Amino acid sequence: MTVLTKFLLFGTLALSATVNAQDATASATDSGAVSEPSAAAPSSAPTTGGSTSGFQFKETYPADSAKPTPKAEWMALLDGKNITNAPVLKANGDNGPQQQGDADPYCDWTFTTCTRPTDIITCPKGQWGITYDDGPTEFSPKLYDFLKQTNQKATFFMIGGQVVKFPDLAKRAFDEGHELAMHTWTHSYMTTLSTEQIVAELKWNELAIKEVTGYSPRFFRPPYGDIDDRVRSIANALGFTPVIWNHDTDDWMVAETPGFQESWIDGNATEWAGLNATEGGISLEHDLYQKTVDAAIRILPTLQEAYKVTTVGQCTGQQSYKEGVAPNSNASSSAASPSASSSGNTPEGSTQANGQDSHEEGAAMSIQSLDSRATMGLLTLIGAVSSYLFM
Ligand SMILES: [Zn+2]
Repeated sequence: MTVLTKFLLFGTLALSATVNAQDATASATDSGAVSEPSAAAPSSAPTTGGSTSGFQFKETYPADSAKPTPKAEWMALLDGKNITNAPVLKANGDNGPQQQGDADPYCDWTFTTCTRPTDIITCPKGQWGITYDDGPTEFSPKLYDFLKQTNQKATFFMIGGQVVKFPDLAKRAFDEGHELAMHTWTHSYMTTLSTEQIVAELKWNELAIKEVTGYSPRFFRPPYGDIDDRVRSIANALGFTPVIWNHDTDDWMVAETPGFQESWIDGNATEWAGLNATEGGISLEHDLYQKTVDAAIRILPTLQEAYKVTTVGQCTGQQSYKEGVAPNSNASSSAASPSASSSGNTPEGSTQANGQDSHEEGAAMSIQSLDSRATMGLLTLIGAVSSYLFM
């Protein structure tokens, strides 16, 4: 069965790679299940920017298909900083690092959903951090439109290469008061990268957003949630704070996994809305496909009825940008609650139980987060794929 399911999954991903190179890149990176994401990468030449819009970048950015190298002055930022001496992990193909035995000495979220107090995992009780990853894409404007109509601010974890491709969209999101955050340059498993590569992934991403908006994000989300103490220490030295999540919509599966029903995304939101009295949350969604944007629009009212829906910065009381408060970021900031930070001052900030809601971003095969009415047949299939690909 595992051979068959693997074949089906790879076949689907291969098809999407053929149909749309850009989406296939995202599909590869987000599923964690494709064997050669670089083969589907949209470009191999350095990105000069401005080609898809009127915006002209001053920088010449690295190709988004290659591992970038950092500027010398960025590496100098690590001088005198305490960088955790954990090994660079070996990727298991494109399925990320593989744990050796049961030990997890460096608190690797991929292995054990381990978190540290400095990781942001959730919002305080009664609040919900709404986050969208992997944009901006051609599908983002529809979501921006809806958020504008409903006066809802959200956190967007943007991939650097996408910002360079769609600077007008990144600018629009910023101008409309959303919180822009980073999702690295190439959407790689960060624990498998060298220190230099991690610096480059973060700083190129930061620079692209800074060029477009004038502001440098503080928050970053490691692709697939893949972070350990070495990555944490490098990011911290550069002034960045990691944000994971504790509720995964599994929305990406609607575009990539045969048999996945859109209604299950709605079922997740309904289930989470029922937790209102006891929890807060940060959810993971993607403005990556038409269907994930449509789902995001459908489920937002459900969450809004149950929670005060905020950006990550608002619910944690943390600053969104290194330069301070952005001009349009206060439109729905009444929820800011500095005393209820999930960044380490409260026990709920490091919840392993919540973390297991998703094995990893995109590759999450969470039975818990699937609607309970899901057929056991599909769950079995997902479980087989998951164990085959990730174990
Ligand atoms: Zn992602």
